[in-house]
Amino acid sequence: MIAEISAQLDAGMTGRQAGTWLDFLFAQPDKPVEGAVSEPGLYAADGKYFKVQANRAGTNLYAKKLVISESGRSPFVYESGAIRNLTASEKLTPEQARQFGLTTGVCANCGERLEDPISIAIGLGTTCGPRIMGKEAYSAAKKTAKADPETASAITAREDRRKAAQAQSDWDRRRALPEDHPEAVHEDYRHFATQEEADKATTADLLAHFGIR
Ligand SMILES: [Zn+2]
Repeated sequence: MIAEISAQLDAGMTGRQAGTWLDFLFAQPDKPVEGAVSEPGLYAADGKYFKVQANRAGTNLYAKKLVISESGRSPFVYESGAIRNLTASEKLTPEQARQFGLTTGVCANCGERLEDPISIAIGLGTTCGPRIMGKEAYSAAKKTAKADPETASAITAREDRRKAAQAQSDWDRRRALPEDHPEAVHEDYRHFATQEEADKATTADLLAHFGIR
C-alpha cells in the first residue's frame, strides 16, 4: 500500500486519488486505547449514567446519557464524545444497575419508571431484569422479593386495585348498554355509580329513589 501511494506521489497524485486514500484510512477501526470502553452496556461516571451501544454497522460504539424525568420514560440522549471519556472499568455490575433502580425508581436499562412491586423491589424492570442479571439470578431475586412481607402486601394491593378498576369499567359498560341487552344493568339500578353501591342498596333505598314511600 505504501509503495502504491509512493508511486502515485512520484507520478503526481490527483485530488481524487488522495481522497480515496483518506477514505480508506478513516475507515480503519480506532486503535484500542488502554482502558477504553470496548463493549456495549451500562456505564456510570461522575454521577451520570450512560448506555453504550454499537452503531448500525457494528464498527463503532457510542454513548447515550440517561436523563431522568420525574414521570414517564426517562430518555437516553446521545452525547457526542462521551464514549471517549468513559472507561471499561466504569461498566455497571448487575448489582450496581439494580442499586440505581432502587435509588431512582427508574430502570437503568430502558429508562422506564419501575411500577410493579417486584420491579421496585429488584430495581430493574421485568424485561430488563433477566437481561441484565441473567435469568437465574433474576428469578432468585424475584423469589426473595416475593418473600418480603412489604412487597407481598404491595403485590396484593396492586392486584386488588386492578380488580376494582376492572369491576368498575365492567359496571360502567353494562350501565351504558341498551335496556334490552342481556348484560345491561337493570334500569332500577342504573343510578348507582358502582356495583358495590347497587349491591348494598336495600329495597327501601330503591323505593325512596323512585319516590314511592
Ligand atoms: Zn427496563
